[in-house]
Amino acid sequence: MALSVVDLYTRVLPRTNCKDCGYATCLAFAGMVVSEKLALKNCPHIHADILSSAQKELEAQYKQGKWLKKDMAEEALEWAKQKTASMKMEDIATRIGGTFMGSGEDETILLLCFNKQLSITRDGIRDDSGHDLSRNEQTFVYIHLARGGISVPSGNMKSLKEFPNTISKIVSMRDRVEIPLKKAFSANPESLSLSCENFGGANVKNLYPSCDLAYEFKAFPKVPVVLLFWKAADGFEADAKLLFDETIIQHLDIEAILFLSEHLCNMLIH
Ligand code: SF4
Repeated sequence: MALSVVDLYTRVLPRTNCKDCGYATCLAFAGMVVSEKLALKNCPHIHADILSSAQKELEAQYKQGKWLKKDMAEEALEWAKQKTASMKMEDIATRIGGTFMGSGEDETILLLCFNKQLSITRDGIRDDSGHDLSRNEQTFVYIHLARGGISVPSGNMKSLKEFPNTISKIVSMRDRVEIPLKKAFSANPESLSLSCENFGGANVKNLYPSCDLAYEFKAFPKVPVVLLFWKAADGFEADAKLLFDETIIQHLDIEAILFLSEHLCNMLIH
């Protein structure tokens, strides 16, 4: 029988909201498991028997595409995984600014991603708490591994619409990133500052004097992202915008830029 978010929450998870999985509540974690294939074992408090049978039920519903959020992510992820499978780990690390270590089956790339250090092996990608990444997170990381160029940031930051072939993605950026940020922080912009600092954002307000808040994040060593925020004032609503270095398209495709932006938005809000 398929497991919905509510089924998973009520029948499988301990409902203690202890945050050991990296999410603020069991319900938020359940949503990620059902819609984004986050591994159930990221909750360390489920009895082994229950974990195994629930994961089997989840695998069956994933195959049918039931309740999955975005199937485009699946295709992009498969493409990027296949592409990286034929590349040397050491070469990938050198290209994207990661650290290569180990040998044979233990080959690992350590890669900074926002405020976390990712550990990338042929078996998968984990964060520094040992948690597997969600499917969307894996998608933009694998795409970066597959196509990350050698270019270093030029410092010329642009909004998404200034990059070629992004017309169809402007609305997605607005609906999935800018509006949620605006809604979450318009009443309390100070909490956005705090959240940005918690996730490794550097205050760059001096470079963007026209906005109220400006933080630069290192999405990857060669991929800076700037978040600009304007508070509501004089009848104007609050507003939020992300800027990307002009070299980002050598490191990520447009869909991956969107996933990365959504990831940043979710981190800041949740
Ligand atoms: S680790 Fe498990 S019990 Fe704790 S918040 Fe996450 S899902 Fe809930």
